[in-house]
Amino acid sequence: MILTRLGVAAAVGWAAYAWGAHLLALGCVWRGSHATRRVALTFDDGPDRDWTPRVLDLLAGRGARASFFLVGERAVQVPDAVRRMVGDGHEVASHGWSHRSLWLCGPRRTAEEIDRAHATLAELAGREPRHFRPPWGMVNAAMFGALRRRGERCVFWSLQPEGLRPVAAEDQVRHVLRRAHSGAIVDLHDAEGPWRAPERLVQALPAMIDGLRAAGYELTTVTELLEKPPASASA
Ligand SMILES: [Zn+2]
Repeated sequence: MILTRLGVAAAVGWAAYAWGAHLLALGCVWRGSHATRRVALTFDDGPDRDWTPRVLDLLAGRGARASFFLVGERAVQVPDAVRRMVGDGHEVASHGWSHRSLWLCGPRRTAEEIDRAHATLAELAGREPRHFRPPWGMVNAAMFGALRRRGERCVFWSLQPEGLRPVAAEDQVRHVLRRAHSGAIVDLHDAEGPWRAPERLVQALPAMIDGLRAAGYELTTVTELLEKPPASASA
């Protein structure tokens, strides 16, 4: 009986820590300002030794800038890709150290995931990451304090053309172009994600970029998207 009660108390405690924290996620960012016609493409789970350079080539070929939410332990394996991101004008942001779900992390492990990724990415990129995307989109109550101490802001997305299941490249393009809006943050995967996600990304990216630009959108980083638009632009 006591064990049952303890079990229930533990379950309630965990639910508050993990699920309940999603109420606090109101403090997270889902999109940028409506005021200017800008969109941020964001790439999760990299860098990948093979796919990330191809994504960087595609972006460079079209003069487009974006934000990369990197996994710390992967970034140390492919440091050249991180340096190239910075050199090409992209934003290096954090996706945690090991991509472990924060639902499985206590407060100490949560801080470690955020701190270690922050320090590693700052060193590789030569500047501190300002944004963090929780792996799997799962937050916990300890994340907010850990992010505040590092000066990072939690960023989700407003458009996700591919969730947990594979979606054909042309359907991803259609999804994004149909739902595009000012201030949109688009969630994509240049590594991992659903099965063969980076391969579909490389197929989808040219048409996605061209289509967004044809619709009048400027492609930018999350940092620039969240900056206050110039006074003239909001008039
Ligand atoms: Zn991820």
